[in-house]
Amino acid sequence: MAECVISNADTKQTFLNLVGEENLDKKFAEKIKEFQQSVSGFVVHLGVEMELPKELNCGCIMCFPEYSTAENNFKLASKNEMETNPEKIGFGLSIPTLKDPDLVPAGFHTLDIITMPAPYRYQNQWKGENKEEYNMLKEKMADKLIKAAEKLIPQLSKHIIVKDISTPLTYERYTSATEGGWYDIACTPKQSLLKRTPAKTPVNGLYLTGAKIFGARNVCLDKQWTVHSRYYSERKINKRKIYAKVLINADRARFETLRRY
Ligand SMILES: Cc1cc2nc3c(=O)[nH]c(=O)nc-3n(C[C@H](O)[C@H](O)[C@H](O)COP(=O)(O)OP(=O)(O)OC[C@H]3O[C@@H](n4cnc5c(N)ncnc54)[C@H](O)[C@@H]3O)c2cc1C
Repeated sequence: MAECVISNADTKQTFLNLVGEENLDKKFAEKIKEFQQSVSGFVVHLGVEMELPKELNCGCIMCFPEYSTAENNFKLASKNEMETNPEKIGFGLSIPTLKDPDLVPAGFHTLDIITMPAPYRYQNQWKGENKEEYNMLKEKMADKLIKAAEKLIPQLSKHIIVKDISTPLTYERYTSATEGGWYDIACTPKQSLLKRTPAKTPVNGLYLTGAKIFGARNVCLDKQWTVHSRYYSERKINKRKIYAKVLINADRARFETLRRY
């Protein structure tokens, strides 16, 4: 039997499904169930046949029509609603093929148009029970997002040759993330920093890593924190020293990544 198991699957999946609620302390299981899941998103992936201006080669362009757009999106999501007016939709646009033109034949591009948050329970869970209605809803929302993106790329809709659409249900299906959450449990003040789930769990030999733990959403930090937590629990080493070492290593790793680009 393995001495130690490290889970990168999301918090609720790990404890309620993989370990099983029946094997957990009741109070701890309740705590896990009460965690607020992070938001998901809605993304349109396009293949287009058109030339695009080189000025759009700047990572992810965030296009928010008004200062209040982001806040408004979150307010709507809290009521399981979404902004559907193309004039008001806030979105991110990234075009990987401007960064690396070798990915496609000349004259073609790939684009991702992202809007978030997209509530899991939008229109009765995206009408997901009925495949036809689900597809219609996806297409309708995608058209609005494409229209919104035409502010940056006029006539975009006329040049589409491939279209794929992701909803929170897609993220749930392909990543097993509860409710398709992009960041595991939400980064609310109640669930941030030291209030996040620690790498070492109450289940003997089970450790967590990934967006759910302290150092969340920092790929360098979370994996190192897990490894050091395991090391610490075995050797009884001073926790503060480990924390300092993790931070130094994470900074080095970040520096290496930046240097490569
Ligand atoms: C479309 C999109 C855009 C994003 N953009 C950004 C961004 O711009 N900036 C940013 O900081 N973050 C972004 N994020 C969030 C970021 O990608 C995640 O926070 C990060 O990938 C989480 O890493 P992780 O290691 O915790 O989990 P993941 O990378 O999600 O890994 C978890 C793994 O566990 C597996 N798993 C789940 N359940 C089970 C199970 N029951 N059994 C076995 N395996 C299981 C999953 O398949 C997956 O491989 C984005 C996320 C998405 C989806």
